[in-house]
Amino acid sequence: MPTLRPLPAEPDPNADQASPAAKGQAADPQKFAVEVKPSAIDGQGVFALQAVAARRKIGEIRGESVSTAEAFKRAKAADKSTGRVFMIAVSNARSVDATASADPLRFANHSCVPNMVFKVQQGRVAFYALRDIAVGEELTVAYGPTHHAGRLACRCGAPGCAGSL
Ligand SMILES: [Zn+2]
Repeated sequence: MPTLRPLPAEPDPNADQASPAAKGQAADPQKFAVEVKPSAIDGQGVFALQAVAARRKIGEIRGESVSTAEAFKRAKAADKSTGRVFMIAVSNARSVDATASADPLRFANHSCVPNMVFKVQQGRVAFYALRDIAVGEELTVAYGPTHHAGRLACRCGAPGCAGSL
């Protein structure tokens, strides 16, 4: 009859190491508190909960890297349904689809006189304050050329609004 012996204790591979979650997770790219709520411009917008000084980084949008051809396809499909998309070209060939992203800045509406500017950094989209932004202001960005090619009416309400995007 075999005798049962307790197995020698195996060394814990995770001992003396930071937890994998803490190690592998990128820091939250959101630098300033914001809230997403209905906007007078369009749908949901993102609003500052903290004052932001000019040129400070506000946050980033992370998303799925897709080919620009795929991005156009998805944007057109969303136009036909009621779905909304947030797609941004990071180069001629690649785009970021942030539709499923949890980053609040994906709700940033277009304004012809925006208070943010975005910069593409390593396939991520980072937003910076163009001027001092007060608590409660809606955070807006100039989308630049869109797949709407000027057929969508702009409701940003800014003096000097181009009227379409
Ligand atoms: Zn406008």
